[in-house]
Amino acid sequence: MQMKSFEQVPRPGLLSYILLPLAFCLSAKVSLALATSQEGVTILWLPNAFTLATLLYYRGQRYWLFMLLVMLSEIAGDFPRFPWHESIILGVANIIEVTIAYLIMRESGVSRKLNDLRDVVQFSVAGPLIGSLFGGLIGAAIIKYFDATTDNYLSIVQVWWFGDALGLMILTPMLLAFLYPKKQIIQPFQRVDLIVFIISAGLAGLIFSASNAKVWGVFITPTLLLPSMLYLAARTNLKWTAIGICIVSFSIALLISHGEKPFGDLPMALTILHEQEFIFTLSIASMGLATLMAHIRDHKHNLEIRVAERTEALKAVNRQLEELSATDSLTGIANRRRFDEQLQSEWSRAIRSSQPLSLAIIDIDWFKNYNDHYGHQEGDECLRRVAGILSSVISRGSDLLARYGGEEFVIIAPNTDATQAYAIGQKICDAFQVAGLLHALSSYGYVTVSIGVASMIPENTLKPSTLVKAADEALYMAKGQGRNQVVAAEY
Ligand code: GH3
Ligand code: MG
Ligand code: MG
Repeated sequence: MQMKSFEQVPRPGLLSYILLPLAFCLSAKVSLALATSQEGVTILWLPNAFTLATLLYYRGQRYWLFMLLVMLSEIAGDFPRFPWHESIILGVANIIEVTIAYLIMRESGVSRKLNDLRDVVQFSVAGPLIGSLFGGLIGAAIIKYFDATTDNYLSIVQVWWFGDALGLMILTPMLLAFLYPKKQIIQPFQRVDLIVFIISAGLAGLIFSASNAKVWGVFITPTLLLPSMLYLAARTNLKWTAIGICIVSFSIALLISHGEKPFGDLPMALTILHEQEFIFTLSIASMGLATLMAHIRDHKHNLEIRVAERTEALKAVNRQLEELSATDSLTGIANRRRFDEQLQSEWSRAIRSSQPLSLAIIDIDWFKNYNDHYGHQEGDECLRRVAGILSSVISRGSDLLARYGGEEFVIIAPNTDATQAYAIGQKICDAFQVAGLLHALSSYGYVTVSIGVASMIPENTLKPSTLVKAADEALYMAKGQGRNQVVAAEY
């Protein structure tokens, strides 16, 4: 099931009513002063990015109020370049442009956080491509009508379109990145980052210090910064990439507005086209890469978390299974848990039936020596064989053979008295002699066991541990008396 997340939409406050006009007006002045070529072509029109970011951030709340503010800012920002009545119509063109971009983005469900490559592409189509084109079609008509310009209509459309498109393209993602700060995994700084930075800074210095810089007769053009920007995009996130794009784009626009020709000795119109083409390529490629990489990193991070969770869950299940399991994994016979349960139930049953219950504890002799001499793996194998020998001795279905722990085994024998229990012990010792498993460090030359047996008719006043303790003490005596023997507990 997918949960729809209802994200809180902030309400516009006084600050937004001050900030938007301020940013619009200032960026209009900056665009007209710094990013306008000497022919009067605005290479980068930045203000619309602020309007679009505001509409997206507040989801169109207070639309008319914001648009009124935009209109006033347009008049103030255009002054004295355009008379106020012309500014109003230019403002209308800008508002239509941004509104179209906003509506297309809203209707196509683009995430305002530009989370995905899809979002970046849809934003580029909605804003720079379609929105700015419409703005251009209207804006050019106004300019053509008011200014006694000799330029043809379509070339004015193109200038408006490209200038606005680039403004939206480079600035909107950066504003959105600041409006929606995201916790993103940024990789730690590496030495190679520093090397790339120094090379890029050197290149940038060459490009921006002198126009027409040549190395071995080759123009050093801003295009050479593309790899550096892609590197930045791959290593950081959308926010830093957007900042990088802004700095590079604006620096180039600044150069051109000062009459420099960073793309080689070309006519100005071509220089501007080159520049716009480059900024477009730079933005699309770097932002695309940044979102793609962020996506991959997020995905990887989520996968790692999920793998860790699953592993933990598996471990927990394994622990549970082990606890629930009744068999000893090494020897395949019953384990300690099973023994404890069985002893309790046989104890109770013996009380009810007043029948004797016997217990034998079997401990391999000098098994530490066996391990030391033959190795732990052989030791394990020996344990398996011992279990095999012991099971072959037990004949009654009601008897239970279990591994008590380490190299100790136990047999619970219901309805078995002391004499019978002792006989079983003896049978076991005989079986080991017959098996003759070599044990170089044993006085007997083969694997032997010591056995302590205890038998009693259980009573309510006693506990099963009484039987275990008695058998254990008998075992201790068997060890003390030279091993390879059975001792029955005395009461
Ligand atoms: P004693 O005759 O007095 O019983 O001497 P012992 O060496 O058999 O007894 P001790 O308690 O000193 O050593 C028991 C050894 O059993 C030590 C341990 O390494 C070994 N052991 C316990 N569990 C395992 C196991 O699962 N696999 C193997 N290979 N060895 C085990
Ligand atoms: Mg032992
Ligand atoms: Mg032992």
